[in-house]
Amino acid sequence: MNRRLSTLPAPCIALLILVWPFFGPVPPAFAANWTVHAQPTRLVNGWPVLFQVKPPARLESLSGTWLGHELSFSYDATSKSWFALAGVSLETVPGTYAVELRGETVAGKTPPEKISFTRKFAVVRGKYPKLPGKLSVESKFTEPSPEQEKEIEEGQQIKKDYLNRVTPEREWSGPFTAPSDAEISDVFGAERVFNGKTQSTHFGLDFRVPGGTPVTAMNDGTVLLARLLYFEGNFVVLDHGQGLLTLYLHLSEFKVKEGEQVKRGQVVGLSGGTGRATGPHLHVAVRWQGTYLDPASLMRLRLP
Ligand SMILES: [Zn+2]
Repeated sequence: MNRRLSTLPAPCIALLILVWPFFGPVPPAFAANWTVHAQPTRLVNGWPVLFQVKPPARLESLSGTWLGHELSFSYDATSKSWFALAGVSLETVPGTYAVELRGETVAGKTPPEKISFTRKFAVVRGKYPKLPGKLSVESKFTEPSPEQEKEIEEGQQIKKDYLNRVTPEREWSGPFTAPSDAEISDVFGAERVFNGKTQSTHFGLDFRVPGGTPVTAMNDGTVLLARLLYFEGNFVVLDHGQGLLTLYLHLSEFKVKEGEQVKRGQVVGLSGGTGRATGPHLHVAVRWQGTYLDPASLMRLRLP
């Protein structure tokens, strides 16, 4: 090749060098130019995660799978990125897990094309406190009457029907904020150990508030539930889209109705001690596609 080139007159060689890139091997379509970031960069069981994806071409849509769940991404024009909020369940064992992405390119000079990409992330074990067991709730919660049993069953059915809902469209916008500025009295994931056995795991975050304190929506969303349940008391659930729900328990009063759209910071109810509570406080929980996540970690995410 070189020998043949060297026999060509100099201007020909210059021309060849100029046009060389156009005749070079065609790169395999959209092979390696994906960038996939996770926030936080260290994935922990029980924590939410924000996936940010920059695909190698303009896409019509982007979806994915992560830990057996479907991800639906939304496009953010400012950062030219696709975002999806997801999570790692508390039960996920440390290891390496793949996020599988599937997109369809925007039709232009070429017809739309299906493209895909896989990126692996390590999940590490979170540190959750172990606390001595305590139990001082009324006997109606430990030894319910047949009537109370019925109420408990109704509550369980409502939770089964609503708390695993996944609305693919994103309604959340920007960061999740605290529902109260009170101090935190009990963290997520804390295990109550009684006689050497884990008696219960705390699947939410408790705020030390007296009764009657305004409780605010952690982000924009739709009111999925505003009902009195046996254990939860007056219970508000907001659907923020992409499978993410926030739950507000033991309220003394509702300030929203089911089906209503709310904005971040809007008052959804007043704190109280209804349902199974040892006294007035606010218990807040975060669900993502049927699994509980740490609300404090969700509030730490910098979200678009
Ligand atoms: Zn709690």
